[in-house]
Amino acid sequence: MKIRFFLGIVQHNRAVALAVRSFHVVLCEQLKQVTLLRECLKHLRYLEDLELELPHLTPSRWGHLLRDLQFRHLDLLQTNAPHMVIAAFPEYHVNVAFLSIEACGRTSMPCTLDGNQLPILCDVSGPFGCVSALVQNNPVSRVTACQSPATQPIPAFVLVSSLSTSTACLTILELELSPMDFDVLECLATSTPALTALKLIEVQAPTLVLFHWIHST
Ligand SMILES: [Zn+2]
Repeated sequence: MKIRFFLGIVQHNRAVALAVRSFHVVLCEQLKQVTLLRECLKHLRYLEDLELELPHLTPSRWGHLLRDLQFRHLDLLQTNAPHMVIAAFPEYHVNVAFLSIEACGRTSMPCTLDGNQLPILCDVSGPFGCVSALVQNNPVSRVTACQSPATQPIPAFVLVSSLSTSTACLTILELELSPMDFDVLECLATSTPALTALKLIEVQAPTLVLFHWIHST
């Protein structure tokens, strides 16, 4: 459905706008109608599920899209928004229990989600560094953590120790690991006593370019 068409509906039919609980915008190309989408979102005050996958949108346009929007009943947020934009959400979205995020792009600095508090957050999915930052401050019991495709896979014992504040109450865990990581089950057996479901996915290290020196004699 065209965003402009949907905006026309919610602008002229308040009952429809207030009845929408789940709203998903998943695009393959860059969004050109940021202001129109923002106008739509303004009308959807009772949203419980929000998915926004908007490729190639700059941080400033993400900020323009979501600035000061409030969904007091929001329970699930799935997005590829920059984490500095997501980090502004918790103040108004304390009911978020399910959060799925993509790479934050920060490698040397801590994730901007570090320190954010969502009092009923129980399920987090995203890059390992950002997920562990959220786990430190929130009552998370279900974790899906993926590795960075640009670096060597982080070993299991490092992953699990970084989730240490919640490993005792983790019930569902999904991790990406190197196929050479043989200690993972032993590590999890001692650290995650409440675990009821475990999914391990093998990921390869970035392709190594090998140089062969040719010696002439
Ligand atoms: Zn992050």
